[in-house]
Amino acid sequence: MALRTLDSLGPLSGTRVIVRADFNVPLKDGVITDDGRIRAALPTINDLINQGARVVVISHLGRPDGAPEAKYSLAPVAQRLSELLGKPVAFASDTVGESAADAVAALEEGDVAVLENLRFNPGETSKDAAERREFAEKLAEFGEAFVSDGFGVVHRKQASVYELAEILPSAAGQLIATEVDVLDKLTEKPERPYAVVLGGSKVSDKLGVIEHLLPRVDKLLIGGGMMFTFLAAQGHPVASSLLEKDLLDTVKGYLAAAEEKGIDLILPVDAVVAAAFAADADHVVAPADALEDTPFGADGIGLDIGPETQKIFADAIADSRTVFWNGPMGVFEMPAFEAGTRAVAKALTEVPGLSVVGGGDSAAAVRQLGFDDDEFGHISTGGGASLEFLEGKALPGLEVLGWER
Ligand code: ADP
Ligand code: MG
Repeated sequence: MALRTLDSLGPLSGTRVIVRADFNVPLKDGVITDDGRIRAALPTINDLINQGARVVVISHLGRPDGAPEAKYSLAPVAQRLSELLGKPVAFASDTVGESAADAVAALEEGDVAVLENLRFNPGETSKDAAERREFAEKLAEFGEAFVSDGFGVVHRKQASVYELAEILPSAAGQLIATEVDVLDKLTEKPERPYAVVLGGSKVSDKLGVIEHLLPRVDKLLIGGGMMFTFLAAQGHPVASSLLEKDLLDTVKGYLAAAEEKGIDLILPVDAVVAAAFAADADHVVAPADALEDTPFGADGIGLDIGPETQKIFADAIADSRTVFWNGPMGVFEMPAFEAGTRAVAKALTEVPGLSVVGGGDSAAAVRQLGFDDDEFGHISTGGGASLEFLEGKALPGLEVLGWER
């Protein structure tokens, strides 16, 4: 069954519509450092404004423990949303209290209000379905319809994601509709050759994706911190690089499966090895099978793929018609170790087909490195949600909107 889309709710002029957005943006000293997630919510909110709906936007931010915590206030987000919409946005200092009720009651047609952080209320993420239901009932009083558009949370059974969608007439917003459309293309009949590029810090974070995607892809490229567990599984010493010893057997299994299925599993042939995990650390390029043969010996830490690997990866990506990339190739937060991530990002922008970037840090990396969102086919706003989608898991926040695989 397909996702119920916005138009299934009928004309919304004058209607109070609750929108669940994912405004979980990175903040530094109260300043938003990447507003990508707020921008991603604009199409749906603008559509509702244009229809003359009374728009009540709800979201979480960070991980407060079910009680108000000033540093997780959505106030800066409401301010930024107002700037991006080019119109005033009311802000309620609570989620289901008096301030929220007043803000909602004051909405005229086409007006927007943002309520305070959902997770300031224990009911939002409660393990107890009855508690979640009770909180969702309170939220539901603020609207006659519900639009779910926080893709980053659809893998969670939470009050504002799941129960609220059961209580009110509900549909997916444009962001969720787009995400599902693109990720579905990656799981069902992708155009071939299909390459998946994985990096990031740990194999353990990505086991599910590797297992689910391995039989479906033509090429699997491994960089980032997880490359060292693969190199070690091939018998190479990795000095003091990130190594998940308990996963060596699992990874050996992946290598064998790839071989057996004729999948091109491409591992780095060289790496940038540093004297320490630090931005200004001394560093050299070493062949992947000789990572301990550097001036740093067994203390060396691999922090990026090397230049030869960059070329091999870029060529493998350029030869593909569908590419999914998750996880930076190196510690891109430090300029000395960003080149591998930059090379892969650049190659993705040149794919003559669908290129998708998934993962919170990967999305932040391409923006930090100066790439434009529209140079890629799609940048997923959901880290965990997009991975769970690709793992083939059930996503409660999508199923409640009518979606079935
Ligand atoms: P995403 O959020 O895109 O899924 P991850 O959270 O899996 O990505 O991983 C991102 C992190 O991986 C980054 O902070 C980056 O510094 C780190 N990383 C990449 N390569 C290495 C490496 N060689 N050693 C240690 N950490 C690494
Ligand atoms: Mg991450």
